[in-house]
Amino acid sequence: MLEELTNLISLQKVDLEIRGLFQIQEELPESMRELESRLAEVEATAAEKQQQLEEVKKQHRQVESEMAMLDEGITRSRQRLMEIKDNIEYKAMLKEIAFKEDRKDQKETEILELLEQVERINADLLALNEELAGRRQELARMQAKVQTEIAEQMEKMEVLQSQRRKLQETIGNQLLKRYDFIRERRNGTAITEVRQGVCQACHMNLPPQQFIELQMNQELMTCPHCQRIIYFAPPEDNGRPDSAQAA
Ligand SMILES: [Zn+2]
Repeated sequence: MLEELTNLISLQKVDLEIRGLFQIQEELPESMRELESRLAEVEATAAEKQQQLEEVKKQHRQVESEMAMLDEGITRSRQRLMEIKDNIEYKAMLKEIAFKEDRKDQKETEILELLEQVERINADLLALNEELAGRRQELARMQAKVQTEIAEQMEKMEVLQSQRRKLQETIGNQLLKRYDFIRERRNGTAITEVRQGVCQACHMNLPPQQFIELQMNQELMTCPHCQRIIYFAPPEDNGRPDSAQAA
């Protein structure tokens, strides 16, 4: 095989790895953003519940003070009752006291209901806060993992970039330009293997005559369908680079 071609195949392999690393680096923060937005949702629900709780507590204080006023009123009315001599006035006062006692009962029921609400909301808040703690932990784990992975990828990337620089030097400028030109337009794959007459990138058949010429590996050829540079690796060649990347 042409030496330049062999080097180009190696370069393609390195470039695909670099491309894969870039993709991983894009996907990692994406999965973190998902966690962050789920966390924000739960935080919003918890804040809403907290506000509900404040409102119910406020209502509770309001009803408590209304009840205290009623209580005072009842006490006052009872004291006045002792001083009333007139029978009609006495009956009217008794009625008024009974009315206030009724209202007081209503307020007591209201207070019980409000306290039940407080209990329910507190239970919801407890569950939400537990969920929040779990989600925050998950996010922190994820952040640590992403940082480690990014650091590892940076190391790999440096190795790959230095391999790329070395390989680049072994390939002529013209061919390198052509390679980069095709790579940019063909999803990262500029050079591909042909197996049994089929281009492994676009999966189209080569004209039989071209395939015969290709098997001699004496010159650079391109796939007539996808314009990628093509090469033939005999089946017994175990050192065959894997270039079967889909188009
Ligand atoms: Zn093709």
